[in-house]
Amino acid sequence: MHNKTIKELSALLHAKQISSTELTRHYLGRIEASGHNAFLHVDPELTLAQAAAADARIAEGTAGPLTGVPIAHKDIFVTRGWRTTAGSKMLANYVSPFDATVVERFNSAGMVTLGKVNLDEFAMGSSNENSAFAPVHNPWDAQAVPGGSSGGSAAAIAARLAPAATATDTGGSIRQPAAFCGVTGIKPTYGRVSRFGMIAFASSLDQGGPIAQTAEDCALLLNDMVGHDVRDSTSLTPEQGNLQEDFTRELNQPLTGLRIGVPSEYFGEGLASDVEAAVRAALEQFVKLGATLVDISLPKTSLSIPTYYIIAPAEASSNLSRFDGVRYGHRASEYKDLQDMYKKTRAEGFGREVQRRIMVGTYVLCHGYYDAYYVQAQKIRRLIADDFQAAFADKCDVIMGPVAPTVAWDLGDKANDPVANYLADIYTLSTSLAGLPGMSIPCGFGQGEKNAKRPVGLQIIGNYFAEAKLLNIAHQYQQVTDWHQRAPDGV
Ligand code: GLN
Repeated sequence: MHNKTIKELSALLHAKQISSTELTRHYLGRIEASGHNAFLHVDPELTLAQAAAADARIAEGTAGPLTGVPIAHKDIFVTRGWRTTAGSKMLANYVSPFDATVVERFNSAGMVTLGKVNLDEFAMGSSNENSAFAPVHNPWDAQAVPGGSSGGSAAAIAARLAPAATATDTGGSIRQPAAFCGVTGIKPTYGRVSRFGMIAFASSLDQGGPIAQTAEDCALLLNDMVGHDVRDSTSLTPEQGNLQEDFTRELNQPLTGLRIGVPSEYFGEGLASDVEAAVRAALEQFVKLGATLVDISLPKTSLSIPTYYIIAPAEASSNLSRFDGVRYGHRASEYKDLQDMYKKTRAEGFGREVQRRIMVGTYVLCHGYYDAYYVQAQKIRRLIADDFQAAFADKCDVIMGPVAPTVAWDLGDKANDPVANYLADIYTLSTSLAGLPGMSIPCGFGQGEKNAKRPVGLQIIGNYFAEAKLLNIAHQYQQVTDWHQRAPDGV
């Protein structure tokens, strides 16, 4: 049952071969028995009430394609009636009075919330080890990190604890954990999915998206996720191209004539040979499907790391100023005066990586350094976006390459080395800085005794609003390969 896709589950639910209540109980049982630390909060009573409501809708004949299908929400989307911690001690007991737009939309579609899943604190990280509530273990290998920041979302799909999960991507947090856990994820064009109720990390980069087993399932989820929201001022309008489209509509297009750009910068020094082998084999598979490979260059790729790690902390330092012990969450219990209360609250509530980023962000924004760092980074951000436009203008239709330079590393390996973590983001940051859509699909495994069970992800990057095209490309690949159907031992 739990190896079925959303598409298959939806068919069973509509044919009344299974009820949402039965399905939901099955997943709740799996979650309870699992040891990955993917779920932070479960509340069977709330969940089963939603399942019963979904069953009633199915009986009435008012169900949509996702009605009755269970979903796990990254614990950065606020949810009424549930705790929302953002992986931080600061919000350990926070309960939002309203639902994030994404949650609200899935609720109205009749989806059933299975619980809230683990993440790096405020989505800052690449390994889940920055969670205040202990890291998630990769279902493929308990010694390995699941990736981050949406490690809980990706692990939940890989371990078949949920058929669908929400996630967010600021610099790679949907694509990289999807790659490390051997599942499928898509980060849409910036501005397509509402950020309302998605706790802000870096507002000009944050974008919500789905993680599931297949591209087709991601398309079904995106149908309900994408759309303009008046409550988010950066949400794109239909006039700007944010149409309420059917993302499944292109899923049968042949790939004949597709020009795939292969950036030399994504295959250079630092790329592990086992990851390269799996990605190159996937590219050959696309050639068999009728595509052609074109060598391209994205010359500013290496600048994406310093640029991102100026802009993201700058925005984070501003966004996180709201956690002051007055308005939300944690407050220090003993303090001398107001200043002291702020200091103690923030020192106690925030973990080390979050504190580091607030300090870096405050520094690059301060008078005297603003022009040298922040303004400079904004200019380079534009040049990075221009690199992609030059490639899409006449050379290629999509770009493919690895998601990350290596397979998942061991828990603890980079835990005390922030720069090592930052460097591993090299292939995902530019897409985010440019606001482009990007996908990760499973395309193989690493090599050698240690890596043979650690998945490799293929990244597919498209131009703005090209989600339907990316999903079809991924779907065509998944019609002729079975990497997406593999599950960890014992699942
Ligand atoms: N790894 C990157 C960071 O630490 C990206 C995280 C994300 O996309 N949320 O900021």
